[in-house]
Amino acid sequence: MRFPATEQLIDCTALNGPAPWDQAVAEVVTEAATALRRHGFVVFRIGALRWDEDRSRDVAHQLTAALRTRLVRDGAPGEMYLEADAAQPTPVPDARQVRTLLPHHDGQHSSYLTPSLLDDPEWDPTLRTFSDTGYTTTHPHKLYQGIFIAHPGEGLSVTTYYDWLRILDDVKELRGDTGDLSTPRWLARNIRDSFAATRRNGSAYPTVAGFLGLTEEALLATPLLHCERPLAEAVKERFPLLRSLSTRCPCGECQGEVRRVFCHVTTLGAGLNWREFRERYEILAPSERFDLLLGDNLTMHHGGLAGGPGRVIEPLCLVLDEPRGPAYESWLHGMWRRPTGDATAAAGSARVAEVAR
Ligand SMILES: [Zn+2]
Repeated sequence: MRFPATEQLIDCTALNGPAPWDQAVAEVVTEAATALRRHGFVVFRIGALRWDEDRSRDVAHQLTAALRTRLVRDGAPGEMYLEADAAQPTPVPDARQVRTLLPHHDGQHSSYLTPSLLDDPEWDPTLRTFSDTGYTTTHPHKLYQGIFIAHPGEGLSVTTYYDWLRILDDVKELRGDTGDLSTPRWLARNIRDSFAATRRNGSAYPTVAGFLGLTEEALLATPLLHCERPLAEAVKERFPLLRSLSTRCPCGECQGEVRRVFCHVTTLGAGLNWREFRERYEILAPSERFDLLLGDNLTMHHGGLAGGPGRVIEPLCLVLDEPRGPAYESWLHGMWRRPTGDATAAAGSARVAEVAR
């Protein structure tokens, strides 16, 4: 198990100090912007201030708004705005105590990593929206996803993060059949193939299997997110292969049909079963009541580990209505150059490399 580096846990006590409010907010946000750039996500430790719910929520909104201003100053599109969505409970199926979510981008039907036109001039920006139906969040393109922990619930209040840039680099390298394709161009090819598959299978949601360039139709057409739910009978009817994939998994330890099928996806896609994949890539970010977690939504994947039914989160995302135009392309070009590596594995032994993709 690996946890965030100390510098990702943003100390908010300056907000309680003698400095003028705006100055204190700027100080906290500067620290967060630096850690966000280096690691892909941060945890604002608002809960440690022991303020009441209304004040904590108000501070979370103020910090997100100030971070937006800071990110725009650092190159994010000026049209990026703060979207505060409805509170989300944690639906736990009958007879289960907790819910676990597999890695995903928030609003994945219209928010996923694609090449910048500066990295791949042939890329078609209209392919940044997979579909405009069948989604559960909202439609704007989410550049950064944040959650205010209104209640941590009875289970673990743990958000899992996976460095998607590192995974893509590793998988492309592993395949060895991509010639001198850059990672953005390789991902572009996989996304175009996912769109082609959609025309055959009618899926409205892009999948990790598709992003990683798998070709098995059953895996391309089946979104895998909620570990405690069974696969729909209709899906197994349509793709009988899923009956065997959901019965037995490569690591032999996965509980539940969805997790077992995903274990096949990581094995086929990344050469690591789900247990090995987690050991290599998963960072566990614990959060207490009233903390604010905020991460890159495109260059990172995130999930939720064993959340109890009482866990309530309030999404605070930084979004764009139209993911295109010179400012977006320039920002995205920069995001592909975020440091990757084992920086989050252990403070003090950080290995951070600017990777030329
Ligand atoms: Zn498994």
